[in-house]
Amino acid sequence: MIDFTSAATDTPGCAGDQVFLDSAGSSLPPRPVLDTVVAHLHREAEVGGYRAAQERAEELEDGYTVFADVLGCSPEEVAFSDSATRSWLSAFQAIPLTEGDRVLITEIEYAGNAIPILRRAQAVGASVEVVPSTASGEVSLPALRELLDERVKLLSLVHAPTNGGLLTSVKEATAAAHEVGALVLLDACQSVGQVECRADELGVDFITGTGRKWVRGPRGTGFLYVKRAVLETLVKENVDLRGGSWTARDRVRLREDAKVFELWEYGVADRLGLVAAGRYMLKLGIPEIYSAVQSIGARLREGLARIDGVRVHDLGERRSGIVTFSVEGTPATEVVELLGRRNVTTTVSSRPSTLIDMSRRGLEEIVRASPHYFVSPQQVDTTLEVVQDIRGGRTSAR
Ligand SMILES: *Cc1c(COP(=O)(O)O)cnc(C)c1O
Repeated sequence: MIDFTSAATDTPGCAGDQVFLDSAGSSLPPRPVLDTVVAHLHREAEVGGYRAAQERAEELEDGYTVFADVLGCSPEEVAFSDSATRSWLSAFQAIPLTEGDRVLITEIEYAGNAIPILRRAQAVGASVEVVPSTASGEVSLPALRELLDERVKLLSLVHAPTNGGLLTSVKEATAAAHEVGALVLLDACQSVGQVECRADELGVDFITGTGRKWVRGPRGTGFLYVKRAVLETLVKENVDLRGGSWTARDRVRLREDAKVFELWEYGVADRLGLVAAGRYMLKLGIPEIYSAVQSIGARLREGLARIDGVRVHDLGERRSGIVTFSVEGTPATEVVELLGRRNVTTTVSSRPSTLIDMSRRGLEEIVRASPHYFVSPQQVDTTLEVVQDIRGGRTSAR
C-alpha cells in the first residue's frame, strides 16, 4: 500500500496546506524528479550541454528500458518526444491512409487527435466515423464490430478521457479491429501513471503518453510505443539525423527501431526528469498506484454525489482517478475559482476538448478534480466541505 503521508513528504508542492487535485492537468513532481531536472540545468551551465549530456549518457539510454517496463514492451519499441501530442502525431502521420479508407474514432475522442484526423481524412479522401457508446458510456463492442471492415485502416482509442472517470475496454476493441487488419492507436495520456497500460496485455499497435500528468514528470515531455511488427509498414516523415543517417551524397538510411520518430534535439534536463519519474513510478509499483488512486478518487466521487445540488458526470463501469462534477447554480469556472480561494486546485473541462461526448450529454463546462496518491482522505473531506459551502452560498465570489 502507498502511504500518502510519505508520498506527500516526498513532494515539495505538498509542503503547504494546498489540496492539489489536478494531476490530470499537470501534476506535482516528486523531489527526485525536481532535483534531477534542476541539477542537470546547473551542470549544463557549468560545462555546456554537450558535456553535461555525455555525463548522463547511460541514464539517458536506460530511459528506454525504464519506459519499456512501464509500457510492457521492448526498449527498441520506445521513442521519446516533447509531448503526448507530438508522439501521437508521429504515429498518426506514419499510418498509410488513402482515398476510400476509413478511420474510426470514439465518442470520447480528444480534440488534439480529432483535428489532425479530420484534416488528413479530408485531404486524402478518407472518411471518419464515430463508434457509438453503450448506455454507460463505454465504446460499444457490437457497434464497433458492425462498423469494421477491411477499409478501416485505423481505430483511434482514448484509454481515459480528459473529461471524466471512464476507462475504455481497450483489449476487446483492439482484438476486433485487428480481425480486419486495422491498426489501433491508443491515447494513454490520462492513464499511464495511474492505470496499468501495457502493450503486451492490450495488444495495441501504438501507445502515446505525457510526462506532466499522472506520471509526475516535467512538462514538455512525452513518449511513444510502436509495435515492432508494425514499424516497417509505416511511412516515416520528419526524420532528421537522429532517425536516419546520411550515408552517401544521395543516400540516407533510416533506423529500424522506434527512435526513427525522435529528433536529434531535445531538452536533456526534462528527459532525465521524465526517466526519474518513470523510475519513481516503477519503484512505488503501478498496481499499488492504481489502487491508491482508485480509493482516493472513489472517496471524492462518492462524497460529491452525496451533496445536494452537485452532479457527478463520470461515465463507465470501471473508473479512473478523474472526477468531474457540476454545482447547481454556479458555473464551473466560478467553482474552480472559489475552490482555489480555499486553496483547492482543480480545473475546468470544457466542451471543445471532448466535443462529441460533451455535446451528446449537453455539457458545456464541468469541474475536473483529479487526486493522485499523494492526496490524503482528510484533504478530500476538506474539498467536500468547500464544495458544500459553495453550494450553500457560504463561499461566494462577491
Ligand atoms: C492532455 C491530453 C492529451 C495531450 O497531451 P499533451 O501533453 O498536450 O500533448 C491527449 N489526450 C488526452 C486524453 C489528454 O487528456
